[in-house]
Amino acid sequence: MTTSEPTTPTESTAPALAPQKLLAGQKALVTGANSGIGRGVAIALGQAGADVVVNYVDGDDSASAVVDEIRRSGANAFAYKADVSSEDQVAGMFKSMIQQFGTIDILVANAGLQRDSAFHQMTMAQWNMVLGVNLTGQFLCAREAIREFLRRGIVPSVSCAAGKIICMSSVHQQIPWGGHANYATSKGGIKLMMESLAQEVAPKRIRVNAIGPGAIRTPINTSAWNTPEAYNQLMTLIPYGRIGEPEDIARAAVWLASDHSDYVVGTTLFVDGGMTLYPGFATGG
Ligand code: NAD
Repeated sequence: MTTSEPTTPTESTAPALAPQKLLAGQKALVTGANSGIGRGVAIALGQAGADVVVNYVDGDDSASAVVDEIRRSGANAFAYKADVSSEDQVAGMFKSMIQQFGTIDILVANAGLQRDSAFHQMTMAQWNMVLGVNLTGQFLCAREAIREFLRRGIVPSVSCAAGKIICMSSVHQQIPWGGHANYATSKGGIKLMMESLAQEVAPKRIRVNAIGPGAIRTPINTSAWNTPEAYNQLMTLIPYGRIGEPEDIARAAVWLASDHSDYVVGTTLFVDGGMTLYPGFATGG
């Protein structure tokens, strides 16, 4: 494949790398973990040695498949069905995790969705659904995780931090996105929630960060990559000349969850092939 004539790739475009056990002995919860980025993150955390709760809202079989794959890598895992926008269901999920795994060291607040509409036609249901899952869902999960981190404190044999939260944001916390105002608003909200929380709890040695994925090949955005025309169009937005894969995000998440990133606090790590570099300005402006 050349960068000037991209075709839709059928196999992973990310380089193959051997997993390392950077997270041995840690307990992780990944929301929205039976599809796309969350699935990739949950499997990678397991391969890095963490035991993982695989949250999902529907799709029992795909959640079980993720659990099986994590167990094959030698880590423990179980699936937990909960709607992250429900306060009661989130509380029940954390209770179950603490009963089964004893605690939580890593939260990856990943669950998210789109309900696209022209602004003047957007319904309250579309607005509330996206804000409820993408933003309130992250608030509810982060609040439960922080409560447990504060209760437990640092366990030096496990990690030098008292807990880590990774918020799955998007390049659209920064890049406006017409036709998707509810989604971009949710991601902009995640940015300042993450930064405010990171500032508040850093003195307790709790690290809160975000990942801002660019275009990653998952079911959320199939129409943006599943034909050669769409893929070529997408490439005009990506200086690096390839689509992202869930494992590109998963590797960033493993690093952000590990002590290798111990001094990284309140940052959004864009993993986007340069999408936030305003590629239109490479030849214009
Ligand atoms: P996806 O559709 O493959 O996965 C979304 C996951 O969220 C699914 O497992 C789904 O079941 C889950 N989910 C939805 N509603 C839920 C709820 N109420 N409670 C619990 N789980 C729920 O999409 P993806 O691309 O893997 O998206 C994952 C995250 O990455 C989202 O936050 C998304 O905004 C973000 N993101 C994706 C891209 C991309 O290009 N794919 C880019 C930027 C950000």
